[in-house]
Amino acid sequence: MTAMVWFRRDLRVRDNPALRAALERHDRVVPAFCFDPRLLGGRHASGSRTQFMLECLAELDAALRERGGRLFVRSGRPERELVALARETGCEEVHFAYDVSPFARRRGEAAASAFADAGVEVRPHEGLNAVDVRAVETGEGRPYSVFSPFHRTWSGIERRPVLDAPTSVPAPRGRAGRLPKLADLGLRQEVSDPPAGGEQAALRRLSAFLDTDVREYADNHDALGRDRTSHLSPYLHFGCVSPRLLEERLPRGKGAQAFRRQLCWRDFHHHVLFHFPGNAHSEFQARYRGKLRWSRSRRAFEAWTEGRTGFPLVDAGMRQLRREGWMHNRARLVVGSFLTKDLGIDWRRGERHFMRYLVDGDQANNNGNWQWIASVGTDPAPYFRRIYNPALHMERYDPEGKYVRRFVPELERVPDEHLREPWRMPADVQREAGCVIGEDYPAPIVDHRDAREEALARYRAAAGG
Ligand SMILES: Cc1cc2nc3c(=O)[nH]c(=O)nc-3n(C[C@H](O)[C@H](O)[C@H](O)COP(=O)(O)OP(=O)(O)OC[C@H]3O[C@@H](n4cnc5c(N)ncnc54)[C@H](O)[C@@H]3O)c2cc1C
Repeated sequence: MTAMVWFRRDLRVRDNPALRAALERHDRVVPAFCFDPRLLGGRHASGSRTQFMLECLAELDAALRERGGRLFVRSGRPERELVALARETGCEEVHFAYDVSPFARRRGEAAASAFADAGVEVRPHEGLNAVDVRAVETGEGRPYSVFSPFHRTWSGIERRPVLDAPTSVPAPRGRAGRLPKLADLGLRQEVSDPPAGGEQAALRRLSAFLDTDVREYADNHDALGRDRTSHLSPYLHFGCVSPRLLEERLPRGKGAQAFRRQLCWRDFHHHVLFHFPGNAHSEFQARYRGKLRWSRSRRAFEAWTEGRTGFPLVDAGMRQLRREGWMHNRARLVVGSFLTKDLGIDWRRGERHFMRYLVDGDQANNNGNWQWIASVGTDPAPYFRRIYNPALHMERYDPEGKYVRRFVPELERVPDEHLREPWRMPADVQREAGCVIGEDYPAPIVDHRDAREEALARYRAAAGG
């Protein structure tokens, strides 16, 4: 008796319900991964994220080999390639974890129906989230669109048990295929200092976080200079570690509670995209759909992507993205507000740029957060509440300028008191600091106060006064 486990973004052997179920019911298992050109070259193509994924897959293959199995690699459409593999290896069932994005669902459904036509039984599982986000509903049986009540319900949902890694994964004979290199996939690494992928790296990060930063997470998670968040997001995205395992390992206390709440934000955005797939392309709030007038300024968008807006915190965040393929959440909020409110540029362009570079680029989280910061999504607040002043944010979250100096070396020698608004530096101080505004570092591309007024007018007009 043989079953296939179709790995998609649950690239781990620990706490993997699909893998466990297949092993419990069958003598042999075909762990399979299918490279899909529609994803590799689609609108969210990313060299950095694909490289990270290749590292996760190499490690998954090694973990399977240690247990007597191996990863079967195919390329093309899963409904063709994996069904053929199932035939070759005599699989009677296929197990895989559910996913929530519109494309992942269409792809899963196409594969499921091809498997069913081939007489292979389809068995979907949990594994992506802490709870089954598809099933969470309000008292009236509707999906949630506000975070706090979702969080209350989510906290009370009984959890599935965390599963150990299997000791043995017996695989049948058959052509396993090889993992490609990034260049074979027509992609290249675009970030210079990315994190390493894989289950082991995830577990090391988790241990380091639990040993130190989790205790202070509630007080420090917004502090940019200290950077005390877990950095687990890319590992969660590719499922190198499961959210259930994280929950299980969390200690008691305020810090762990605050961290668990962030895991709930992740589930919330997955829940929202599952129930409102139209969000992938348009605003959740109908009153803004097609109504906001966006700027098409190429110059402003390029300055933003390159981290040359003249606003130190914005530029630091955008350069961190290009260097690490990751950005601190507080900086993501500031650059998101700046793009959509100060520059008046469509949130979808920011969303897309993030997906190109982020190693944790996750359609549900990215889309949900972009809509949130653009004030067009779920969990609504009046638009004027989410127009962030980069200088004030710096004062609050990077008071010593550590974060900014790390990513914007031109500002290294600028005195603390001028770091938030370097354009106000007297000319002699500019020369002394080796940072002449307009030459060594850009002058601000907008006036924040004016831009704020314009944003208010734009949103007011779109919302009908
Ligand atoms: C404009 C914008 C775009 C974003 N795009 C993404 C994205 O593509 N992928 C992504 O995983 N996160 C995204 N986030 C959310 C958040 O910034 C990252 O999850 C977080 O910075 C990752 O760092 P960490 O693992 O150290 O987080 P921690 O603070 O250690 O939090 C632990 C985990 O909780 C989850 N989490 C935390 N904050 C959020 C949040 N606001 N929304 C959803 N999940 C959250 C993540 O899985 C994270 O790994 C975005 C936020 C903004 C404002």
